[in-house]
Amino acid sequence: MSELIIPTDLLPADPRFGSGPSRIRREVVESLAAPGSVLGTSHRKAPVKDLVHSIRTGLAELYRLPEGYQVALGNGGATLFWSMAACSLVKHRSANGVYGSFTRKFATTLQKAPFLADPAIFEAPAGRLALPEASYAADSYAWAQNETSTGVAAPVRRPVDLDDSALVLIDATSAAGGIDADISQADAYYFSPQKNFASDGGLWVSFLSPAAIERSAELTSSARWVPDILNLTLALDNSLKDQTLNTPAIATLMMLEAQVRWLLAHGGMAGAAQRSRTSSDILYGWADANPLTAAFVRDPALRSPVVVTIDLDAGIDSATLCGIARDNGIVDIDPYRGLGRNQIRVGTFSSVDPEDVRALVACLDWILERMPGLSA
Ligand SMILES: *Cc1c(COP(=O)(O)O)cnc(C)c1O
Repeated sequence: MSELIIPTDLLPADPRFGSGPSRIRREVVESLAAPGSVLGTSHRKAPVKDLVHSIRTGLAELYRLPEGYQVALGNGGATLFWSMAACSLVKHRSANGVYGSFTRKFATTLQKAPFLADPAIFEAPAGRLALPEASYAADSYAWAQNETSTGVAAPVRRPVDLDDSALVLIDATSAAGGIDADISQADAYYFSPQKNFASDGGLWVSFLSPAAIERSAELTSSARWVPDILNLTLALDNSLKDQTLNTPAIATLMMLEAQVRWLLAHGGMAGAAQRSRTSSDILYGWADANPLTAAFVRDPALRSPVVVTIDLDAGIDSATLCGIARDNGIVDIDPYRGLGRNQIRVGTFSSVDPEDVRALVACLDWILERMPGLSA
């Protein structure tokens, strides 16, 4: 245990700052056990189907889905959706932006698919951004709206000169619910709900364009072997009936539904984006003003409003700092494990109260003034 005990009045009301799984509002956790909860009841019966319906219509409203788009969902999270996209959406070859761990994982999944050509990779080092450019050889274009491993945010915009038949696949796992997007620019805009949607993991959700729906119907009825769990058309057929192919975690559905409705009641995507922007600005401002810290993402235009990465001076050991914070109840500000940098990473998702971020900054200042081995 650390000998540094932060005064209670400095501590944030809610000290969870993880980048996923992230904080779930306490009222929502309590509602799982409240009278009338549908926990432990059949997912094929009206109460749970109504819940799925409310998720689907709520998300369509939140993102102002264009005519013809559908909301599909199933089990397995964004990681499963990568394999599903390999089977059900990419025809011959994709072009991928790779600028961190999550964008690399999708490119690797596609590269391993025996029936696809290796993806064309557009790569940038951690902290920067590379987007795929139009090529005659690619039928799908993929990148992440928010690279959670580095804190880089990317635009959601169809690449220029793209063939009409090409699909744009956006990994919005840590962006959706915290950064707005014009969904007409994407054909599959997909995410897991354990980040801005303040739920548990285990589920994937995807907004599908008519072109994506058509591509999936074509590929899943072709000679290609597509396992049922990776069949997007089958998932969509179930989703249209407000069900999932196999049994979902009912608690995750309940938490997702509560968060979608909460976001709609608090200004929709404009309100959510504003809240995350306020929280992240507090941290970036702090990092800029302190000589011992600096925003890892040098280009301010690429700095994520939902995942803030801050480099620390070599004299401040990140593991020691995060350890002291953890001993005081402030959790999950550690850097992404694979990035290997001396930094902190803070999730400023839409559930995070900017007041808690102000308190976090005060606590970090308090620790830095007293940290062993640090003499100002
Ligand atoms: C968290 C995350 C994933 C992985 O989500 P799972 O639910 O664990 O499959 C994928 N992409 C991005 C951008 C993420 O932040």
